[in-house]
Amino acid sequence: MNAAILTIGDELLQGFTVDTNSSWLGQILLPYDIHIRKKISVGDDVEAIKIQVQNLIDSKLDYIFVTGGLGPTHDDTTKEAFRQLFDDEYYLDEDYYQLLKSRFEKRIKKMPENNKSQAMVLKQADSIPNENGSALGLHYHKNESHIFIMPGVPGEMKGMVNNHIIPGFLKKTPQAKQVTIKTAGVMESKLAEQVQDLIEEYKSTFKFAFLPHYTGVSFRINLLDTTANLKQVSEKFTKAMAPFAYGLNEDKLEEVLGQALRKKNLTIATAESCTGGLIGKRLSDVGGSSKYYAGTVTAYSNEVKQSVLGVLPETLDKFGAVSSEVALEMAKGIREKTQADIGLATTGISGPTGGTKTKPVGLVYIALITPQNSKVKQYNLNFGRKIHREMTATAALNITRLSLNE
Ligand code: AMP
Ligand code: MG
Repeated sequence: MNAAILTIGDELLQGFTVDTNSSWLGQILLPYDIHIRKKISVGDDVEAIKIQVQNLIDSKLDYIFVTGGLGPTHDDTTKEAFRQLFDDEYYLDEDYYQLLKSRFEKRIKKMPENNKSQAMVLKQADSIPNENGSALGLHYHKNESHIFIMPGVPGEMKGMVNNHIIPGFLKKTPQAKQVTIKTAGVMESKLAEQVQDLIEEYKSTFKFAFLPHYTGVSFRINLLDTTANLKQVSEKFTKAMAPFAYGLNEDKLEEVLGQALRKKNLTIATAESCTGGLIGKRLSDVGGSSKYYAGTVTAYSNEVKQSVLGVLPETLDKFGAVSSEVALEMAKGIREKTQADIGLATTGISGPTGGTKTKPVGLVYIALITPQNSKVKQYNLNFGRKIHREMTATAALNITRLSLNE
């Protein structure tokens, strides 16, 4: 089934608010076989809204999702645009008016006169309840198109879709239409080589896409033929992407690593220079991580590397702070200090300053000491300070994950 999204609000056009409503809608509707064919944003402007809605109705779509402009103030014009377009009429929904008033009074406040406009509903439309706010949604059925008009506030819009639109109009059981395999530590071209034969085998029933980003490559599989087995095919690809594939869809590397540490009953601590605590932040983002994450020392200066982690002054003098030797001593130091099973350390030059001929900006060493072995990896990740940190943190977590499979 085909659908379109129309988001309304001057703030969307000016860029002050990012339109997260349409990306959420696109994703939530796909399992119901509703495909978004068009996404349009317009300002709070009656004429612009009317033109776009008429265009969408003329496009003979099954569903049109509209968000924004249902507030009680003069800048919210969506309802008026629909009234004019469909030659509709307002009337006061007395029950809703009393409900709104009592909601305000419960909070010991007199309802502002402005809010009365939210109890003004349109004759040809059905109202959609709003459990999370005061603006009612509207539903029109015109020329075979269902039009749902919802508030712009993301929580209110999501509540209407989940509580009323999905159960009331999309009764079909949802079926996953796509899956994303997440990988780390591999280039797009190498990954492509590993799955080349599988792509060839399944290209008539699935659509494939490589989505590279700085911290890894995501591989998206879209179902073309609904009778094909998405789960089975995604398992085949995951296997072919070993050892780089670490999870699916919303899975995070730190969660996957956390599960592996729990399973093996191991604990980890980090000593971070250039990552400034980012690895510790990511590890502790995961609920329940206190079971396996001991803590982090952000050892930025040489003094802290020496006094807290026990890095030897001779090592710093001889090899410099950004060296494999110092990285190893940092990992050893944090492991001893915390008694964790695994010590993980980073030291590098995130830039923009601090690089030399022999140690350029981007150079980084990641050291890992486990009960079985120790290793240091060297990378050159020269993509700016922020990305340097993110890539280093991801590489460190991934090296640790891979070492647990060895
Ligand atoms: P409105 O229903 O137009 O009064 O919108 C209320 C608030 O919801 C706005 O101030 C925005 O912060 C937010 N909002 C509106 N449209 C969107 C959208 N498409 N995506 C994310 N937030 C939105
Ligand atoms: Mg608005």
